[in-house]
Amino acid sequence: MPPTPTSFSDYLARVRAGIREVTVDELRALRATHGDALLVLDCREPDELEGGVIPGAVPLPRGQLEQRIEGIRPDRAGPIAIYCASGVRSALAVQALAQLGYADAVNVAGGIEAWIAAGHALDHPRRLTRSQLARYSRQLLLPELGEAGQRRLIDARVLIVGAGGLGSPAALYLAAAGVGTLGVIDHDAVDLSNLQRQILHGEDTVGRPKVDSARRALGRLNGDVTVIPMAEHLTADNARRVFTGYDVVVDGTDNFATRYLINDACVLLGIPNVHGAIMRFDGQASVFAYQGGPCYRCLFPAPPPPELAPNCAEAGVLGAICGVVGTIQAVETIKLLAGLGTSLSGRLVSFDALGMRFRELKVKRDPSCAVCGDHPRITELLDYAVSCSAPS
Ligand SMILES: [Zn+2]
Repeated sequence: MPPTPTSFSDYLARVRAGIREVTVDELRALRATHGDALLVLDCREPDELEGGVIPGAVPLPRGQLEQRIEGIRPDRAGPIAIYCASGVRSALAVQALAQLGYADAVNVAGGIEAWIAAGHALDHPRRLTRSQLARYSRQLLLPELGEAGQRRLIDARVLIVGAGGLGSPAALYLAAAGVGTLGVIDHDAVDLSNLQRQILHGEDTVGRPKVDSARRALGRLNGDVTVIPMAEHLTADNARRVFTGYDVVVDGTDNFATRYLINDACVLLGIPNVHGAIMRFDGQASVFAYQGGPCYRCLFPAPPPPELAPNCAEAGVLGAICGVVGTIQAVETIKLLAGLGTSLSGRLVSFDALGMRFRELKVKRDPSCAVCGDHPRITELLDYAVSCSAPS
């Protein structure tokens, strides 16, 4: 039977009768009771937020509500309060949430207009500029990222260790995506033999420090990105200073000494380590030290002896394979920063270019791991005497 025609006002009255509504003062009381457990959603359109939002509210336009709510609030039992301009769109939003199983969602009657009329304070969130909206438009279209995710990228700080084969594509894609601050540490100068894979550099920067070349290339791509060049070796003595303040570390090194140092520093400082490695026609990538997940030592407890640990200078590598693995590292970094999808934490992806196959290995945290285990033996950083640290 077709539904009986009904006016919008009748429809809205029926919706309202089936949901819970609170006044703006009751919303303040709910906040006092639940604290941060109460999710306050602003379901207006982005251009309506310029006049201000209720402090602490998360912007989620009505049109994206059903798609994105699980990403924002996976737990369906927690309390949610939704508002819009006057309480109409948010009433429909509460009904939609109830159908998705969010049982404890309430509508804020009168919306932001009632909040302002009651004399309560507003927050004025920083908005993207017109040129940022244009530059990032193709990724802003992704509802999973949106303007809030882009803001997180702009506010983020990522350290790239090594401006070489892996660091080059990772840095370029992170700069292009708008990650606001990129630290780059590399002690080396650009050599002609680097250009086959290290696409940050060009013929015009051969002989120059790699970090200067990187700053030029990244600045040309995105002038909004702050590049912090560090022309030095990463050592046990400086690792804490170098790493502090970064949200994610991208491991773009090609030697085991630095790889173990990065791993241990990331575990000790609680910074996720986006790992990549390449050799000949093969590559691998993972995410270590992230939210209680395993670290590189859980997988490989100690560095191999030097004679079993060749690097690119000795074993060779196809340049485009660096592009595949470094780009996976950029994707994983963006996911961590913006809170998207499922990270590679707990999984090692290995890539065989000749067979064009990706394989996946489960990695578990090892309770007896020397650095991230239950009784860690490594509590301070140390340098490893591995003699395979040829230029990256
Ligand atoms: Zn471990």
